[in-house]
Amino acid sequence: MDILKDKIRTEGVVLSDQVLKVDAFLNHQIDPVLMQQIGHAFAERFRDQGITKIVTVEASGIAPAVMAGLELGVSVIFARKYQSLTLRDNLYTSTVFSFTKQSESTIAISAKHLMADDHVLVIDDFLANGHAAKALIDLIGQAGASIAGLGIVIEKSFQEGRALLEGEGYRVESLARVKSLADGKVTFLD
Ligand code: 5GP
Repeated sequence: MDILKDKIRTEGVVLSDQVLKVDAFLNHQIDPVLMQQIGHAFAERFRDQGITKIVTVEASGIAPAVMAGLELGVSVIFARKYQSLTLRDNLYTSTVFSFTKQSESTIAISAKHLMADDHVLVIDDFLANGHAAKALIDLIGQAGASIAGLGIVIEKSFQEGRALLEGEGYRVESLARVKSLADGKVTFLD
């Protein structure tokens, strides 16, 4: 997706050879026009798959997931990271190791939103080592729902997430594939 790659080139900040900061348009400030195009790009890739629900994780997965949900005409569930007074009973939970925080946390979704006959598209902002994606897949599995694939805004292809997920038979569609962040420079795979 050329417009996304241009945005990463011009507004992304390479924090280290492992971490890319995109606070200007995805992780803090959000560019709604770009999000709309991202939602459209995901929908194009999964339109014929019979998706009934999108699952993501708060907070940064929500904007692209909602835009994809709008295009596909399906609801979006975001897994919550924090204990909420309104989210207590009948939960599916999973633990996830956060790449950016380097700590483990629990994510949860309410069982009432996800059914065994749902066919789910998983969306997230980044794919690094695949921990967040695996935790979401775990939650969806607890509901007995099936997975059409994963839509990722920015994949860091030098980390192992894609190989891990594809090795387990999941389709991974990434809109920008970063080959390297070496020397403070973003280079893309294709
Ligand atoms: P994974 O679980 O695949 O190792 O990492 C993916 C999650 O970590 C994403 O949900 C994202 O929030 C965060 N993440 C991983 N790498 C980066 C990065 O380079 N930049 C930012 N902003 N977030 C990242």
